[in-house]
Amino acid sequence: MNFEQIEALKGLLSSSKRIAIVPHKNPDGDAIGSTLALWHYLTKKGHKAIVLAPNDFPKFLKWMPGADQILNFERNNSETKKHIAEAELIFTLDFNDFGRVGQMSESLHSATAKFVMVDHHQEPSDYATVMYSDVSMSSTCEMVYNLISYLDDVALIDKDIANCLYTGIMTDTGSFKFKATTSKTHRIIADLMDKGAENTEIHHRIYDTNSPSRLHLLGCALKNMVILKDFSTAYITLSQEELDRYNYEKGDTEGFVNYGLTLEGIRFAVIFIENRAEGIFKISFRSVGDFSVNDFARKHFDGGGHHNAAGGKSERNLEDTINYFLSLLPQYKTVLTQ
Ligand code: 5GP
Ligand code: MN
Repeated sequence: MNFEQIEALKGLLSSSKRIAIVPHKNPDGDAIGSTLALWHYLTKKGHKAIVLAPNDFPKFLKWMPGADQILNFERNNSETKKHIAEAELIFTLDFNDFGRVGQMSESLHSATAKFVMVDHHQEPSDYATVMYSDVSMSSTCEMVYNLISYLDDVALIDKDIANCLYTGIMTDTGSFKFKATTSKTHRIIADLMDKGAENTEIHHRIYDTNSPSRLHLLGCALKNMVILKDFSTAYITLSQEELDRYNYEKGDTEGFVNYGLTLEGIRFAVIFIENRAEGIFKISFRSVGDFSVNDFARKHFDGGGHHNAAGGKSERNLEDTINYFLSLLPQYKTVLTQ
């Protein structure tokens, strides 16, 4: 954040405000961690804050301190709308375009509040009065730590805030191994541990929570994997019928897409997961090296994200989705195989 942004934010927070804090749809560890950390912080500062999520989030994040107070637009529709309409300030965290909140976007469009964006995705939209956007950041949680420090309040980071921020940095960096992990990220993590973050317990709560349904689905996904050596690509499909057969629950397929990249020579991995209720295939894209999955998702699958991790969707059926995907690969052969 530059000096003007920090001063503008200090100004907006100089008196007690009604504040809504919003993560993206299908919130992940970074989205829930950052919104809850900010909620704890703003509440401590005397604001009337609330976290409003577009929809529910996975069970393995429900232990997070404050998770039980999150309202969800799908379940608590009118209450959530009321909070958005009455908010004086709306923080949007871990996304940068109203298209990322699904049905909730209408409410955000008609809100009278001023917006503060804190986000690390590519190509931000222009809706925020204070826009803290930095694509080099490991996670939105690292940015919330920075934001608190720019407001001279690092001393207010308690165990709850530390646990929330640690979780989001951990999940968005693949446990501190992705490229965006810097020495600064590790210094922040060290400080969060000093402030009480329960690192071992957090790893356990997030990663050692396999259910039979998740492991059976993983088996099915790995069996379905198609390897396209000529394009250094591997893709997985999971149909609604397969999800139902193995009693899919929200969050069960988290991380499956990464298995493709563990194969030698594979630089582009994709998973297509059917959501019949929404009439779409939700798609996750991962790459290593120069191939930008953000550009690919944005151009062909109504999505976006980061250079090496992005998402999108398809409204075609499985066969047409895959055929369309396959038809795109030849034009990227050079960058995929160089
Ligand atoms: P995931 O594949 O884990 O759902 O998402 C990977 C990254 O892409 C995350 O940073 C996520 O926020 C972003 N992302 C996922 N789906 C979409 C989408 O439909 N549109 C955009 N713009 N970003 C997405
Ligand atoms: Mn993130």
